[in-house]
Amino acid sequence: MRKSKNYFGIDMFRLLAALLVVAVHTSPLYSINPFADFLLTRILARLAVPFFFATSGFFLVKRYSKDTVKLQMFIKKTIKIYIISILIYLPLNIYAGYFSKELLLPRIIQDTVFNGTFYHLWYLPASIFGAAITWFLIKKLDYKKSFCIVAFLYLIGLFGDSYYGIAGQFYTTRELYNLLFQIMYYTRNGLFFAPIFFWLGSFIANKQSNLSVLENTFGFCVSLLLMTTEAIAVHHFNLSRHDSMYIFLVPCIFFLFNILLELKGKRIAWARDLSLIIYIIHPFMIVLVRLCAHILKLEWLFVENSIVHYLLVCAASLVFGLLFVNIICKYTKNRAAKPQQKCRAWIELNLDNLTHNLNEIKKALPANCQVMAVVKAEAYGHRIFEFSTHLEALGVKSFAVATIDEAILLRRFGINSEILILGYTDVRRAADLKRYNLLQTIIDFDYAKALNQQNIPVKAHLKIDTGMHRLGVNFDDLTHIKDIFSFKNIKILGIYSHFSSSETLAAEDVAFTQLQLNRFYSVLNFLKQNNISLPKTHIQSTYGLLNYPQIECNYVRLGLALYGILSLPDDKTKLQLNLKPVLSFKSKVVLLRNVAKDEAVGYDRAFVTERDTKLAMLPIGYADGLPRNFVGYVLINGSPAPIVGRICMDQLSVDVTDIPNIAVGDEVEIISLKSESNLLAPQIAKQYGSISNELLSRLGMRLDVLTI
Ligand SMILES: *Cc1c(COP(=O)(O)O)cnc(C)c1O
Repeated sequence: MRKSKNYFGIDMFRLLAALLVVAVHTSPLYSINPFADFLLTRILARLAVPFFFATSGFFLVKRYSKDTVKLQMFIKKTIKIYIISILIYLPLNIYAGYFSKELLLPRIIQDTVFNGTFYHLWYLPASIFGAAITWFLIKKLDYKKSFCIVAFLYLIGLFGDSYYGIAGQFYTTRELYNLLFQIMYYTRNGLFFAPIFFWLGSFIANKQSNLSVLENTFGFCVSLLLMTTEAIAVHHFNLSRHDSMYIFLVPCIFFLFNILLELKGKRIAWARDLSLIIYIIHPFMIVLVRLCAHILKLEWLFVENSIVHYLLVCAASLVFGLLFVNIICKYTKNRAAKPQQKCRAWIELNLDNLTHNLNEIKKALPANCQVMAVVKAEAYGHRIFEFSTHLEALGVKSFAVATIDEAILLRRFGINSEILILGYTDVRRAADLKRYNLLQTIIDFDYAKALNQQNIPVKAHLKIDTGMHRLGVNFDDLTHIKDIFSFKNIKILGIYSHFSSSETLAAEDVAFTQLQLNRFYSVLNFLKQNNISLPKTHIQSTYGLLNYPQIECNYVRLGLALYGILSLPDDKTKLQLNLKPVLSFKSKVVLLRNVAKDEAVGYDRAFVTERDTKLAMLPIGYADGLPRNFVGYVLINGSPAPIVGRICMDQLSVDVTDIPNIAVGDEVEIISLKSESNLLAPQIAKQYGSISNELLSRLGMRLDVLTI
């Protein structure tokens, strides 16, 4: 699972929501001003539980993976918590005479499934039903159809809740609801109430709304105002049988959740557990506070002053909750290890270095020239999600990828900036180009014609072939270039070319690059002469910028420079930026074995020991992206350990005879950030006759990603 989005806002609101639930059950402002208390507990605090549902939906049906294991785990865990909660409240149930009433068994079943066995515990079965129902709806249907169903369920719920007054006026509906209320006391449950909020959470996680913070804030304020009006009206006309459900609660949660996702900060790891414990335990604390008040004869302060009462209950719940969370943390610490915990092999991204590189680059750019971040091939193996979201947060407004599916992935991850597809896209996907608002490269005249014939308006950048002879319309094919600008369904927003030989400063390479540049300018001049207003221009990639920094275009298309490396270690460039690598590749020793002298190791017995040798097994191989023909070493505890024998698909052996104190679990560095290690990506790539671009872009997707 990819880490990273900012969940600080959600964590923070979890705690706030738990305290709001406590408010619902203690009416903190009542002794001061009943109307203020009404606003707080019957309107504002109504956000809390739907928010919890939406949060569960958000994390449960995350991205577009819908693996049932996660659902099973969620349900199992919630059942466990429910059983514990039932047991905790059993004494209070007994005290209240629960078990002396009639029709005990049907009531127990009914309460366990719908109403909750203690008054606030309905939330737990509701979570289970809400999760299961939403899950299967989204899985079987799509988002639109499943929304119709959850919205319909909510509507039924509304007329049994805040709008019961209306349903109760008509014979049929009244009878139907009366029938329903024989089965469940309220419609505020897992069937009618929870699904729509689970759906919202999941929808936000999967589709990512494109609204700005301002729009979300505006949306939230308006919805909250409407909900307040609605609640006041519903109470004024005496419509409600219960008041958990409002129409405008749904948009409120949608906008609120989006705002919370925008808040930046460190995750509060224990927020989830603490908020749940406060939720479950606070009624007990109410009893406790009352008991203390009684014993201390302080009822006039502890109970009758509603604010003091509320604060005491909150404080008691918090103290108890924190104690409990600490116990849970200790108990669960070494159990399920997360990918972030360095299980097998991982890449580590130093995002500070990325920030540093971007700043260095910006200093070197001509005025009015922007960075177009090239994040094709999973951001050269750095992982497109982590990399692009970080860059967008730093203000990069333009991205480039190689394929349309990479572009769509970016949109799904919430990248709102412009995205240029540098490579070929089947024209039959024109609808996707439009839907996701992408920029397609026009690779030649026939392609432009075919794309235009799709009759779908798309945006594009025109590529000019100035000598690379790969993609692009020939620089001297001026009539076709002019024609492309007149195509009705293609809006040309950019024009670009690509240098073939900007890596070196050898005289003939410089001359050729200059020739390419002149050809590009000749096309631009032609456009000007023909009164075609110039679209955005770009021609340099990393080496283009470093060796020809004086060129003035609207963009530079940068891959390598952002990743903080060059293709090869010894490349000398005119402009020397202080760039820092971002990615290191690490694994760990999983097994140590001693092998006698003259023993063969690995496939084909390709390596024979020359002495008694200690070998360490590393759980990585060429399927993780390390080339099979790489002959070199890795670093263990800072010491070099030579790779011996053939690199397998998933394993490799290193000689660690000379490394003292080596142990299973020791961390291994394969690609390093530190230049003194001689294990920088360009150095490794050079050793087997390649360039860093290839080495990095092949780092396998089964590696975990850790951001530091
Ligand atoms: C990959 C690519 C780039 C980025 O090149 P770097 O050398 O990594 O900066 C730029 N332009 C085009 C057309 C590319 O394909």
